[in-house]
Amino acid sequence: MIGKSIRQRLVILTLFVLALALGGSFLIANRAFSNTLRETTYTQLANNATYLKTLLENDTYTIEPDRFDAYARATSLRITIIGKDGWVLYDSDYREADLDNHLYRAEVQQALVAGSAVSERRSATQRLPVLYHAIRIDEDPDIAVLRLSTTLNQLTGYQKSYQNLFLGGLAILVILVAAITAVSIGMITRPLHRIKETAARYANGELDARMHLDGPSEIAELATTMQDMATRLRNTIDEVESSRQQVQAILDSMTEGILLVDASLVVKVANQAAKNLLLQTSENAESIEGLRLVQAIRSTEIVAACNNTLLDGKYHEVTLAHFGHLFGETALLVGRSKTKILRLLAVPVWTDGQVTGVVLTVNDMTELKRLEQIRKDFVANVSHELKTPITAIAGFSQALIEGAQDNPEDRSHFLSIINRQATHMQRIVEDLLLLSSLEQQNTVPTRTWTAVGQIIEETVEACRFKAEQKHSRLEVSVENPEHLEVLANGMLIVQALSNLVVNAITYSGSGTTIGIGATIDETDVVFTVSDSGPGIPKDAQERIFERFYRVDAARSRSQGGTGLGLSIVKHIVGVHGGSVTVESELGKGSTFTIRMPRGGMVPGSSF
Ligand code: ADP
Repeated sequence: MIGKSIRQRLVILTLFVLALALGGSFLIANRAFSNTLRETTYTQLANNATYLKTLLENDTYTIEPDRFDAYARATSLRITIIGKDGWVLYDSDYREADLDNHLYRAEVQQALVAGSAVSERRSATQRLPVLYHAIRIDEDPDIAVLRLSTTLNQLTGYQKSYQNLFLGGLAILVILVAAITAVSIGMITRPLHRIKETAARYANGELDARMHLDGPSEIAELATTMQDMATRLRNTIDEVESSRQQVQAILDSMTEGILLVDASLVVKVANQAAKNLLLQTSENAESIEGLRLVQAIRSTEIVAACNNTLLDGKYHEVTLAHFGHLFGETALLVGRSKTKILRLLAVPVWTDGQVTGVVLTVNDMTELKRLEQIRKDFVANVSHELKTPITAIAGFSQALIEGAQDNPEDRSHFLSIINRQATHMQRIVEDLLLLSSLEQQNTVPTRTWTAVGQIIEETVEACRFKAEQKHSRLEVSVENPEHLEVLANGMLIVQALSNLVVNAITYSGSGTTIGIGATIDETDVVFTVSDSGPGIPKDAQERIFERFYRVDAARSRSQGGTGLGLSIVKHIVGVHGGSVTVESELGKGSTFTIRMPRGGMVPGSSF
């Protein structure tokens, strides 16, 4: 019955049960009726036989066919009189001559022995039971046995009518059953259909779908259980989703790139940092998950590291250059200064003693490498800067020791060189110390509200001697109608402005005018130092603020420059939350501008 609906199954089952019940009752009734009929018929046969026997034995009835015929008709019985030799002397239904010898009929034999006997045979023609009652006749010289018989005709009629009743009843019952099952099955199948529809919606992910709960209690309970299950499923999914989002949020907030690949090297998870570090932003940055690692990242080194970790279950580290979609040497060549240096670590993921994946952490080492390079360059630069004066001092002092001191001219010349080189070294060391003190983390210079005019005055004072040496004129202009003050470390600002003014004097020809300006408003203070000197080439303008960078190194050194002046300016302005810029045109001059907040350093700003 696989595949049949509940309705079909129930109809078939009900009809089967009904047919079985009707058939059974038919059989039982048939048996009971035929038994009763038999008993009644046997009694009737016995009574008539006894009566006829009495008549025969009293000689009231001699064998007179007419009288027996009349009796047989009146009672609807067959009367047979059998002689002592077994031949039929009289038969109400057949001609005696046609009948064979009845001596060995079962009922005749038994009657001869027992006095009376019954038997039942099936009629050959009608296939109906025929009941016989034979009784022995003792008082007659010719007659041995009187036999009465009758066919159970009523049985056929009864069976027919019962059959009709059965079929009619069955037809009515079929209609009734169809109607009742339609109604009652509907009561079961309707809620089941609703449950089926809701289950389909659950399967489609609509776990909030609800159904009207009615119908039989078992089905209502099933519906409640299903709804509870859906609610629990929804809660579990919500929990899983929320913890997934938490993990994603943690991953995305990390600056370190994290990538999870499975045993087939398919990317399962990638945080934003990993996408930013490993992919070109415009490229498939959003859809890296689900891709094979080789498709997502075109680096054989990274894929090999993951592969090795999968094979040996050990950590593997790779440091390589990355630019755009290029990795390694090519990235270095193409990307140049824009190339990133990445350090990747492949860590195995173990499940039940098996390596089932790899977590790849990605760190951007570019800044670290740059700082390392700066440190190396710095050490090289300092050594280089100090080497010349130290060599000079060592050489000239050696010469003095070896006898030059005896020559007064040489002595004073050598000593003045030693003194100049020592002063230059001292200046370098002082500048370096100042720079390093400015660079010290958490060192915020003490600031006080200082008048802008005072800063400019002190700057002019500090540079007066140098200006006079070069016959330069310092032209000051201060715009401060409201006499506003600036929150700053006055000494450092004077130092920064002096560096700019000294540079302006140094690199301009003698007898030029150097402009020193200051304007102040509610929010900002702007200092400018301008000259009409040689100017600074465009490509050098960005670099002059780097340590030891000089446009013309020989000229700077001959002027006693350390190459640190402008980087000191940049740092001083930085710790005050401001910025320094330069505008310059070759042959026309340069203007340096310092802009900083009047109220001091903006919290959290850095330089
Ligand atoms: P230095 O001690 O060599 O002056 P700085 O850091 O002060 O070092 O300046 C860096 C370089 O910038 C100088 O070597 C010089 O080449 C250039 N420079 C600075 N100021 C000026 C200026 N006003 N005019 C032209 N060149 C300048």
